[in-house]
Amino acid sequence: MKTFPMFLTMTGRRVIIAGGGEQAAQKARLMLKTEARLVLIADTLDPELAQLVATGRADQHSGPLCPDTFRGAAIVFIATGCPGADHALHALAQAAGAVVNVVDCPDLCDAITPSVVDRDPVVVAIGTEGTAPVLARQIRARVETMLEPDLGAFAALAGRLRDEVARRIPHARRRAFWDWAFAHSPRQLHATGHEAEAARALKAAIAAGAAPEGATGAISLVGAGPGARDLLTLRAVQRLQEADVIFYDRLVDPEVLELARRDAQRVFVGKSVGANAWPQDRINGVILAAARRGQRVVRLKSGDPGIFGRATEELDAARAAGIPIEIVPGITAAVAAAASLGRPLTERGQTDHVVFATGTCRDGADAPDWGAMLTPGTTLALYMAMHRLADLRDSLIASGLPAQTEIEVVAGASQRGERILRTTIAHLPADAEDAGLSNPAIIFLRRAKTAERACTQRAEITRRVSAR
Ligand code: SAH
Repeated sequence: MKTFPMFLTMTGRRVIIAGGGEQAAQKARLMLKTEARLVLIADTLDPELAQLVATGRADQHSGPLCPDTFRGAAIVFIATGCPGADHALHALAQAAGAVVNVVDCPDLCDAITPSVVDRDPVVVAIGTEGTAPVLARQIRARVETMLEPDLGAFAALAGRLRDEVARRIPHARRRAFWDWAFAHSPRQLHATGHEAEAARALKAAIAAGAAPEGATGAISLVGAGPGARDLLTLRAVQRLQEADVIFYDRLVDPEVLELARRDAQRVFVGKSVGANAWPQDRINGVILAAARRGQRVVRLKSGDPGIFGRATEELDAARAAGIPIEIVPGITAAVAAAASLGRPLTERGQTDHVVFATGTCRDGADAPDWGAMLTPGTTLALYMAMHRLADLRDSLIASGLPAQTEIEVVAGASQRGERILRTTIAHLPADAEDAGLSNPAIIFLRRAKTAERACTQRAEITRRVSAR
């Protein structure tokens, strides 16, 4: 290592920033996160820096410059934008023995500022000794996804309880206590917005003198989104990286599972073709059993868990068993499919409500009256409807919609091999079959508010399939 990372104590110390423009302002923003006193050296300050001086957050140095100006400073940043001035200031600061960073001059730097992930007081600093700043930013982006936004507040809470833990929990059990606090329910409760419950759980364990025996785990119903892994939420990635075991089903893309912790157990609980190998009761049973063993369970469902995801059964079972369960929302297929079409689900003045409906109903039930759902001003997104296209066509025509009405199908939205079919109600079954389109797919119908707009839309529909 040519450089060595250290965390400097900044409280009450002076940081000197030479320069009055944007580069100096960047360093000031960074240093404002600390409790250091900022001193600005520049005749003219840009409005942002001037505001810092006006509000008392920084001082503007006046008078001549000499090595004493820099003596005792925690760090000196030099960013005047003028190479000659930078060199002269560097010489003065160095004569005072200060640690100096000259912006864009690695050769003159005693210290390089790292890429920082800030969950104060938890701080991650990433450096590449100036070899690859872009790589540092990429690493930072990954670390950002791993650490929940409120982690700092949780660490601060733990810090406030440290003395009490040392007093009440015998040394031999202390490590296990902190492992439990940071890996199990206290941190999970805090991360999901239940700060008071997290504090209560910690204090109860401190009073009892140990982390609870056989602590129960928790279940997260996590939305995996439509397939592309960069369409997961940051919270979903965090849950995947913390999970001990992940139960997933058929539509979850393997790309998404790659985001999980490497040693997390992965269990497929989907339907195999033509068979229902995993009835819902059995899924509930294995999920609850894992949580009872104290594991952190992720139940990964495609799209959003709350949309045609049979989440109710799993929520009810967990609540009945007293096991904490949360929903982590995901991007539902219809939203991803609309994005693939490059078209919003609502359009001002034309469509002002959206219906998500399923084409699959319980065995023996009649096909739904889809036409009746399409009142003027509606966008209809149909899930799980590809196997009933003739029923769909007949229902739409029977409800009075012209057979020439536009219909769009997006198969495998956001996935490799995504395909789009644009056709009419009359031609839907034959065109979908010709194109070989099948599930997973979303079928869109729109009925605009104004008849004129609807007619012009219908007049020129070209039937075609496109692929990405
Ligand atoms: N919870 C999921 C829906 C599960 S039901 C969600 O919110 O998206 C399964 C149906 O979702 C499929 O039959 C199909 O209609 C739709 N679907 C899932 N993924 C899809 C995708 N990538 N593209 C198009 N439709 C998809």
